[in-house]
Amino acid sequence: MSRIGFGYDAHRFAEGRSLTLGGVLIPHSAGLLGHSDADVLTHAIIDALIGALGKGDIGKHFPDNDPSLKNANSLLMLKKVMAWVKEESWRINNVDATVVAQQPKLAPHIDAMRDTLSGVLDVEPNRINVKAKTTEGMGFCGREEGMEAFAVVSLIHFTDEA
Ligand SMILES: [Zn+2]
Repeated sequence: MSRIGFGYDAHRFAEGRSLTLGGVLIPHSAGLLGHSDADVLTHAIIDALIGALGKGDIGKHFPDNDPSLKNANSLLMLKKVMAWVKEESWRINNVDATVVAQQPKLAPHIDAMRDTLSGVLDVEPNRINVKAKTTEGMGFCGREEGMEAFAVVSLIHFTDEA
């Protein structure tokens, strides 16, 4: 048995906020605005996992009016979703994600994101792929109004393992 899930997220830039992607703090002149830490990559992965589990979406489980989630570290939400994955006897096969941002350049931070996410997702970093793209100046990402992220995740059921 296997499952796939797809996730998408977007947040706008705001001054005076920190920029956290895949749980990694990234130096930049602006951060992303959101109720939690607005970690757009982690949110896309969370939505992909929730989708693979058939449990709706991130807003259903982590509403943006929940005071306990104010400026929350999104890795804690990811940990909670991973507990559901394990409870239902799934494990991560692989994750592939794309972060869209004109600035900052994310290439120097990709390995740190993979390492951080692999710890929470409980798989080797080589099963987690993170790509960074610009839009060549087009659209809201190109105008540096915000960032978006896409993620697909594949789950394998423990019963299928020898
Ligand atoms: Zn989000």
